[in-house]
Amino acid sequence: MERIAIYGKGGIGKSTTVTNLSAALVKRGLRVMQIGCDPKSDSTINLTGGKRIPTVLEVIRDKDKETRLEDLVAIGSGGVLCVEAGGPKPGIGCAGRGIIAAFEKLAELKAYDVYKPDVVIYDVLGDVVCGGFAMPIRNGYADSVCIVTSGESMSLYAADNIASAVRSFGVRGYAGLKGLILNKKGIVNEVAIVEQAAREIDTAILHTIERDPLVQEAEALHQSVLEAFPESPQARSYQALADKLFDCEKAVGRAICV
Ligand code: ADP
Ligand code: SF4
Ligand code: MG
Repeated sequence: MERIAIYGKGGIGKSTTVTNLSAALVKRGLRVMQIGCDPKSDSTINLTGGKRIPTVLEVIRDKDKETRLEDLVAIGSGGVLCVEAGGPKPGIGCAGRGIIAAFEKLAELKAYDVYKPDVVIYDVLGDVVCGGFAMPIRNGYADSVCIVTSGESMSLYAADNIASAVRSFGVRGYAGLKGLILNKKGIVNEVAIVEQAAREIDTAILHTIERDPLVQEAEALHQSVLEAFPESPQARSYQALADKLFDCEKAVGRAICV
């Protein structure tokens, strides 16, 4: 099982990228679990036909010890195992708490033994890299980290913070930084700007995703781009990202790589 955390500023395109990454990986025959670690709780919404799934925090609040695995894991399009950690009521509590509670509950209910995912992808809000939101890169939850960014200064600022957090936990042998995913916003000299930022944080751009209105068209259908427009260049770009991140033959001997 390989576990990757995808971080980035709010609104930068993490959930879009992760959803399409999940869709691309199931196409390659991998079993994928996508865990939304953002109080917005909409990471998996385009894998579940636009329907919000109950978050781990909501279920725990309602059912406490009666919580079953099926209450937390929804089976999304293509069989993607969908989980939303959830967040606190506005103004009260700790947002990172949802992430911690989700990880603890999934482990307690032996989710990984039951569903046996080949890949777990955490979709994590990276605006504030505090103890809560750093959970996936602490304590060995994730094996590696990628950061979604555009050329905008705020998303590069977030990328720098996330990279610093990865470096400080990395000394304990936890997750390493795989690189940046450039999700273009159409800024002048965007590639050069992000290449320079990547050098400054001692990493590289792993993959570049173009801005494409098909993303919104797929969203309107509550689908991933891979599902709605499988032959489009945008779908191929997400597939290429998946192939860069995972060697599916190596990840699972039985994967049907097509
Ligand atoms: P995040 O999860 O980082 O908060 P989202 O994935 O929800 O961000 O994306 C925010 C918005 O940006 C969405 O409405 C989505 O349609 C749009 N978006 C993301 N990536 C692209 C892209 N490559 N091309 C066009 N629109 C995009
Ligand atoms: Fe929780 Fe982070 Fe907010 Fe602190 S800063 S209360 S750890 S979400
Ligand atoms: Mg999101």
